[in-house]
Amino acid sequence: MTHLRDRSFYEAIAPREPLRRILARDVDCDVCVVGGGYTGLSAALHLAEQGREVVVLEAQRIGAGASGRNGGQIVTGFSVNLTTIARNLGVSKARMLWDLAEGSKSLLIDTIERHGIACEMVRGYFFAAVKPRHMNELSEELAAWEAFGYRHARMVTREALPAIVASPVYVGGMFDAGGGHLNPLSYARGLARAAEARGATIFEQTPVLALKRGPRPVLNAQGGSVRANQVLMCAPYLEGFLPEARGMVVPVTTHMLATEPLGAARARELLPGNAAVSDCNAVLDYFRLSADHRLLFGGGASYWRTEASPSLVLMRRLRRVFPQLTDVACEWVWGGQVAITTSRLPFAGQVEENIWFATGFSGQGVTLTGLVGKLMAEAASGDSRGLENLAGLRHRRFPGGALRTPLLALAMAWYRLRDAL
Ligand SMILES: Cc1cc2nc3c(=O)[nH]c(=O)nc-3n(C[C@H](O)[C@H](O)[C@H](O)COP(=O)(O)OP(=O)(O)OC[C@H]3O[C@@H](n4cnc5c(N)ncnc54)[C@H](O)[C@@H]3O)c2cc1C
Repeated sequence: MTHLRDRSFYEAIAPREPLRRILARDVDCDVCVVGGGYTGLSAALHLAEQGREVVVLEAQRIGAGASGRNGGQIVTGFSVNLTTIARNLGVSKARMLWDLAEGSKSLLIDTIERHGIACEMVRGYFFAAVKPRHMNELSEELAAWEAFGYRHARMVTREALPAIVASPVYVGGMFDAGGGHLNPLSYARGLARAAEARGATIFEQTPVLALKRGPRPVLNAQGGSVRANQVLMCAPYLEGFLPEARGMVVPVTTHMLATEPLGAARARELLPGNAAVSDCNAVLDYFRLSADHRLLFGGGASYWRTEASPSLVLMRRLRRVFPQLTDVACEWVWGGQVAITTSRLPFAGQVEENIWFATGFSGQGVTLTGLVGKLMAEAASGDSRGLENLAGLRHRRFPGGALRTPLLALAMAWYRLRDAL
């Protein structure tokens, strides 16, 4: 058994990338993007493609945040069911959001192909039902997707499960040929290289310390500052920079593990079609195979850093799903923070004439961030129609002020209890 590491499995197996420049002087540019995750990199790529002069400031390395350490799952829709969105926001907003999510998936695939990003993308996704109630919810969700014209998903009975996932804990589910999975760090690095090839400049190990608003905003970092005509804030936790973001997004820590390599045959027995899987619990398990035939398994969520050892918890969960893996060792465990909003929909918009922001992708960022980054780039170039659709969503703040973290921990305990029952 291994211990929790700061470096993800993806980083451990990826080729070493030389450190990019660190900001060490004052710079003047057209557009400055803060954050070298998918959102910032996609925005930078699209701005550079428009011929704009763009500078990206990244606090650590490209993909050091959630973008380089996530489950790599390409999921249709949002972290909240389409049926719930339609009930809460009405059918026309649900349609707008559905189109946005589908557009995100198309853009993701197009970007990977167009820029030749080698990120091990595989198609096929399975939503696993743990309880009969989940089958009803999935059928309802499938009907909502089909009502919007989606034809790539189908229900799967318990009898048909072995062709998708060899686990005794599921009662059926929904297979979605439109979803899939990829290597998240390779995708992030590929985006960065594509942006640089089109002229974007990226500074690493350059945390932004302050944002000064004005006709030409200034971003202060330790080694220097960047003055720009426009600023795109693509870091997830913006409270320190934008008072408008206070209480809108909170970090939820979640962990993943990589088993030792299982060998091609054993890996295929577990997931014969190589689909990515997540279950339907509120505190869910998600997993997939890596290109080198390991099981990458994530799950749980915590608001306290002191909860039980993530490797023990995850291995217990993994062996419940796959009892046939009792002899398999865990080789790597790492964690990361998911930026969530109360609605589980992204929080994006504009403050001042020259500052845009986007965050709160709530566990669906592999797919959604690319398009949102592109919409930010379009907004900065005068066409804000796409981003306005998102900016028009009303978000509630997380309640609690200083009590926010204990309240969230309590809510999570309640969800766990509900899943267990
Ligand atoms: C363990 C885990 C599993 C996940 N699994 C999935 C999944 O399977 N599918 C899915 O769709 N989503 C998943 N997610 C969520 C997904 O990874 C995120 O939604 C997505 O990566 C968010 O991208 P981003 O660009 O908004 O933020 P990030 O990737 O976090 O990028 C923001 C960047 O900003 C930088 N930054 C922060 N502050 C500053 C500053 N002051 N100055 C300069 N730079 C700064 C950070 O270093 C970081 O690199 C998962 C997340 C985690 C943590």
